[in-house]
Amino acid sequence: MADSMSQHPHHPVLLNILQEVFGYGAFRGAQEAIIQHVTGSGDALVLMPTGGGKSLCYQIPAIARHRAGQGVTVVVSPLIALMHDQVGALEEAGVHAAFLNSTLSNEQASHVEREMMSGRLVMLYAAPERITNPRFLAQLDSLYERGLLSLFAIDEAHCVSQWGHDFRSEYLALSLLHERYPEVPRIALTATADDLTRADIIERLRLEEASVFISSFDRPNIRYAIVEKDKPREQLLRFIRDEHEDDAGVVYCQSRKKVEETADWLVSEGIKALPYHAGLDAALRQKHQDRFLREDSIVMVATVAFGMGIDKPDVRFVAHLDLPKNIESYYQETGRAGRDGEAADAWMAYGLADVVNQRRMIDESPAGEEFKQGQRGKLDALLALAEATDCRRVRLLSYFGEESKPCGNCDNCLFPPATWDGTEAARKLLSCIYRFQQNGGQRFGAGHLIDVLRGKVTDKVTQYGHQSLSTWAVGADLPETQWRAVLRQLISLGHVVTEGEYMTLVLADSARAVLKGEVQLLLRVPTVAPKRGKLSRTSKPSSGRSGSSGAPEDLDAAAQARFDQLKAWRAEVAKEHGLPAYVIFQNVTLAEMARQHPQSLDALSHISGVGAKKLEAYGAEILRVLGES
Ligand code: ADP
Ligand code: ZN
Repeated sequence: MADSMSQHPHHPVLLNILQEVFGYGAFRGAQEAIIQHVTGSGDALVLMPTGGGKSLCYQIPAIARHRAGQGVTVVVSPLIALMHDQVGALEEAGVHAAFLNSTLSNEQASHVEREMMSGRLVMLYAAPERITNPRFLAQLDSLYERGLLSLFAIDEAHCVSQWGHDFRSEYLALSLLHERYPEVPRIALTATADDLTRADIIERLRLEEASVFISSFDRPNIRYAIVEKDKPREQLLRFIRDEHEDDAGVVYCQSRKKVEETADWLVSEGIKALPYHAGLDAALRQKHQDRFLREDSIVMVATVAFGMGIDKPDVRFVAHLDLPKNIESYYQETGRAGRDGEAADAWMAYGLADVVNQRRMIDESPAGEEFKQGQRGKLDALLALAEATDCRRVRLLSYFGEESKPCGNCDNCLFPPATWDGTEAARKLLSCIYRFQQNGGQRFGAGHLIDVLRGKVTDKVTQYGHQSLSTWAVGADLPETQWRAVLRQLISLGHVVTEGEYMTLVLADSARAVLKGEVQLLLRVPTVAPKRGKLSRTSKPSSGRSGSSGAPEDLDAAAQARFDQLKAWRAEVAKEHGLPAYVIFQNVTLAEMARQHPQSLDALSHISGVGAKKLEAYGAEILRVLGES
């Protein structure tokens, strides 16, 4: 196989492909190094956060190598539902690509196979199960013998690991690629891999010799905010109305039932919301996913079943109405916002019941004690993040082993929360639980406990004679919300444990140190974050990506009118081609067209996101649309 590229990295060639095919001016972060390495036949393991730009890391080498006569790149991806759109996006950019999966008719599949076997195809997307298909392997063998098997790209590489959260047994078979086609370089990519998963990927995919490229996991354009629950649905609605009117977003809930209820309720409030969970009929699920991808401003209310590979670039917010399992899940789920690099929100409402529920789910799971202990540790880290009074991003990144400075783009940085010394209150609360236990061994839940602390006479108080307890009304000075915050912290920290169906409260051994006053508790003062409003969002992420912000928010009235016209035009084209709108042009690109108002094809060609093929296909029409508005 001719391999001149390894000696002479064709750097200008690669930049030229970026500009000509994709219409982008410059590489981002590690892209250039990765693309050079892989184009020159090196193996690579790429760890890059969602939205970091992984696709180009294999697409540009695929194009460069194809142009150099090295044939077809095989892209292994588990996401059958998305292959159609991925391939559509490449064809729109003038790159000959296709996919092979179970959704094709025999006729369609043979056509793709002919294109592949002739070497005309630049990229072939295939699901991992196809790799073990003997017929397919025979085809790869033939390509290989003729020097037309160029590169393997293994997307979502964490699926090979049992430690990861999306293990797919078919991925294990991918080790055969290296054994069977030792001369063909491989690039494996993932957005989620802790140390264990990373080691697993290297071992199972036989990537011991590969260069490992690890990007920072920071997502500077995502603003993190965690609010205390107080009528969470209304809080969510206010958040959407104030800051994300007409934006696409995802709302995560824990249960199917809650997904349905929340979606119904949002719809009744005039929000375009759709439910998505594994209990829905597959066709309906697909339909909702399509609408989310193809329409502009759908709010998807979903369980975690919705997500992997949703590469819609303009998801403006991800909201959590329930606590995720751990920080990895939180980061992955929130990472689906703002892939286009524009401002996006990760918003979560969290409360006492979340802490209790998550703890209970771990306790009641059939897993072994060691595993449970691990889960508890992970949950604690997430709770610490939720209760934090300092920069959320610093905590998140440090969890992934990265050091950073306060970000200026999270709720705690923007609106530093007041703190108060809750040590005394915590002691009162713990001793009240202690009194309950003394007093007949009876156990109670949070509601009753707080009533007793605040001296609220209820039937239950009378029934149990709790007015005579020494802790009766010792906490009348604090409002209920504050007591809940104290209890939440104590449960988070493991000093109080909840038990049974009624979630009654029990002291843990560690409570003794708090009772003795040996542990100081600094708590955040419950606040409702001030309204920000869409228009007041001017603060830029501290370490944000450079370049002009194409955010449609800062268009003047005339540009806004052009933007709207362009969107309407794009919607028609997208519909005609059966593709999501962002595949034709992303919002940032349309916004830039509206802002610059180019008068010639040449001026239009300089706008980021306008490649040669799209200029040829759509240039004249865009100028016409711009001329009319
Ligand atoms: P990932 O797969 O890592 O989540 P993508 O490959 O989908 O990320 O890229 C995220 C977004 O960034 C896409 O909209 C893509 O077009 C854009 N992008 C990637 N690289 C560049 C670049 N060098 N310049 C401008 N935009 C880029
Ligand atoms: Zn911060």
